[in-house]
Amino acid sequence: MPRLAVLGYPVGHSRSPAMHNAALAELGLAEWSYEAIEVAPDAFETRARALEGEGFVGANVTVPHKSAALSLADELSEPAREIGAANTLSFAEDEIRAENTDADGLLRALPTAPTGKRALVLGAGGAARAVVWALLREGAEVGVWNRTELRSQHLCEELGGQPVAEPAQDSYELIVNSTAVGLGGEDPFAELPLAPGGFSSQQTVVDMVYGGEQTALLRGAEAGGATVVDGIEILVQQGALSLEIWTGRPAPLDTMRAAARS
Ligand code: NAP
Repeated sequence: MPRLAVLGYPVGHSRSPAMHNAALAELGLAEWSYEAIEVAPDAFETRARALEGEGFVGANVTVPHKSAALSLADELSEPAREIGAANTLSFAEDEIRAENTDADGLLRALPTAPTGKRALVLGAGGAARAVVWALLREGAEVGVWNRTELRSQHLCEELGGQPVAEPAQDSYELIVNSTAVGLGGEDPFAELPLAPGGFSSQQTVVDMVYGGEQTALLRGAEAGGATVVDGIEILVQQGALSLEIWTGRPAPLDTMRAAARS
């Protein structure tokens, strides 16, 4: 009975168990299961190392464990090493392999390839690192704004991209919110360097934040004619890539989307 899990703190709100269990059923892998496990940071390493002995073949890792996941791995994928964070662990023969599917998950969620486009990434935390890394790899021109400027400067020194203090909203074809703004109901147009009337039909706007309904940022972007991508689609795409790593089977995207949105 292969087991899978998401490890986080807190993790009760996670849509991953519903999404992955629906996918496993659709794939006919009825003996597999996926559960949420809440682990405090000081217990993470011990808990993660015990999983293989309890029948787990893989785990997703979410806030705040993504860099700790990297440190405990015996083997790292190139993206995980360069981004500095892992969201997918695989367990086999007493070895832990760590990968990052957040970066490719973002790329798969975009309606068109970002190659050659001007992109603005908001944020400098773990999510922003994966986004900047992915967009640069695909040949986008990336500007990074963050509330704490020193962090965007450090991110760009490490990964590339240009820190921008006052981005000109209409000069970007792609805007990605990878800050936590909106998660607690904050007004994105008060906290971020964006104006609700500053979007156009030439733009794609991505909000990594997701909740019950469309975020205020995406409502504003859509009203301005922009193409929008929400955080659930990113969650689905990164989850699908993790599932493919563990099962070796193509993930049923429509089933995962429906379960994540229900
Ligand atoms: P993190 O490492 O804690 O970084 C948080 C970021 O948000 C920092 O850049 C921080 O700026 C910024 N921020 C927080 N409050 C702000 C405010 N009031 N005004 C302006 N900036 C503010 O978090 P993370 O792991 O990168 O995650 C960021 C968001 O992405 C979270 O909402 C998370 O749920 C979401 N996410 C979604 C997915 C998905 O699959 N959809 C995947 C990963 C993450 P400072 O540096 O100035 O503090």
